[in-house]
Amino acid sequence: MQDKQYAILWKENFNNFISSLSKLHKLAAPVFKGYNNYAFENVRSGQEIALKYIPTILPPKKFFMPVHETLLEYDFSRGLKADAVTEYEEIILFGVHTCDIAGIQCLNMVFSEHPQDQNYLIHSQNIKIIGLECNEYCDEFANCHLMNTHLPDGGYDIFFTDLGDYFIVHINTQAGEDIIKDTGFFMSAQSSHLNELASYREKKQAIFKNELPVELDLIHDLFDRSFESRIWDDLDERCLACGNCTNVCPTCYCFDIRDEINLHLTAGKRYRVWDSCQLGPFAKVAGGKNFRTTRKVRQRHRYYRKFRYPMDRFSRYFCTGCGRCSRSCMAGIRLKETLKSLIGSKEGAKA
Ligand code: SF4
Ligand code: SF4
Repeated sequence: MQDKQYAILWKENFNNFISSLSKLHKLAAPVFKGYNNYAFENVRSGQEIALKYIPTILPPKKFFMPVHETLLEYDFSRGLKADAVTEYEEIILFGVHTCDIAGIQCLNMVFSEHPQDQNYLIHSQNIKIIGLECNEYCDEFANCHLMNTHLPDGGYDIFFTDLGDYFIVHINTQAGEDIIKDTGFFMSAQSSHLNELASYREKKQAIFKNELPVELDLIHDLFDRSFESRIWDDLDERCLACGNCTNVCPTCYCFDIRDEINLHLTAGKRYRVWDSCQLGPFAKVAGGKNFRTTRKVRQRHRYYRKFRYPMDRFSRYFCTGCGRCSRSCMAGIRLKETLKSLIGSKEGAKA
C-alpha cells in the first residue's frame, strides 16, 4: 500500500537530487568547515553537503534575520524621501535538524506578534525547509531530549530520515510536494518503508534519554524559585561577557537599530544588526542608566529568556537543546551544568 504523505529517495539518487534542486533553486546546506565546525552555505552538489554534522556555528536564523539588514533608506536633499527596504531571496535550506526547526518556530512566533516584523516575515515566506533527522546525539552538549526537539514536529516542507540504503521523506506542505515532483527522483513509500520508520523511531528512544533529572513541565517552576540562587554568582565570576552564547542561539533575536548618514547629513540608511544581552551597554537607556550592569544579572536574564519568560508569552520554552551556547563559550559555561546546579540547589530541592 502506498502512502502519499511519504516518499523514498534511494541514496544512489541523492547527488542527482541535490544537483537537480540546485539548478531550480538557490540551495544552502551544512558544509564542513574544518576541525569540528560546520556552516550553512550555498551548495550545488551533494558531495559538498555534510549529512552527519553537529549544529552549525550559526543557526539557520541567519537566513531569516541576517546579521546586518537595511530597513530604510532616506534622502532629504530633494524633499522628505524615505523608502522602506525589504531585501530577500528565495532559498531552500537542506538538512535542517529538528532543534533548529524548533528555533525557527520560536522566531516565527516572536516576529508574527503585533506589530509584525515585515522584514522577518518576507524572509520566512521565501525560505523552504528540508529537515534532516538526527540518528544519534551530535555531542555531549545537546539537551534536545529534555526540550523535546529530538523528533520532527512540523515547521518544515519536507523531512528526511536516513534509513540506511534510502531516505524516507515526509511531505508536509504544497511547496514540499512541488520539490518532490520537480526534481523527480522520488518513489512512493510503501507500508514496508513506514514500518521501517516506526521501528527506527522505537530504537531511537533507547539512544535519546532525558539529559537532566527534571521534567520539562517543571522547569519553569524551578526558575520561579531560583531568581535569588547563588548559582548566578558563580556565573558572574566566570562569564567574559563576549556575547557568543546569544549570537549562536537559534532563538535569540535581539537587534540594535543604527543609522549611517552621509557627510552632508542629507541621506543615509537605517539598518539593524544583531545585539546581545550579554554585552555591558545592552541595557543602557536614556540618561545613562543601565539596568543590567553585572554579568550575574545578564547571565540570569539569558537563562530566564529561555526557560521562564517565554512560557508566559508563548507557552513554550525558548531553548531547543542545540548545545551551541555551551559549545561556543570560552569560559566553559555549560547550560546543562547550570541547570543541573539549579536542580541540585536549595531552591531546586523545594519541589
Ligand atoms: S559565551 Fe560564555 S563567556 Fe561569552 S557571554 Fe556567553 S556565557 Fe559569557
Ligand atoms: S540556550 Fe543554548 S542550547 Fe538552548 S537553544 Fe540557545 S544555544 Fe541552543
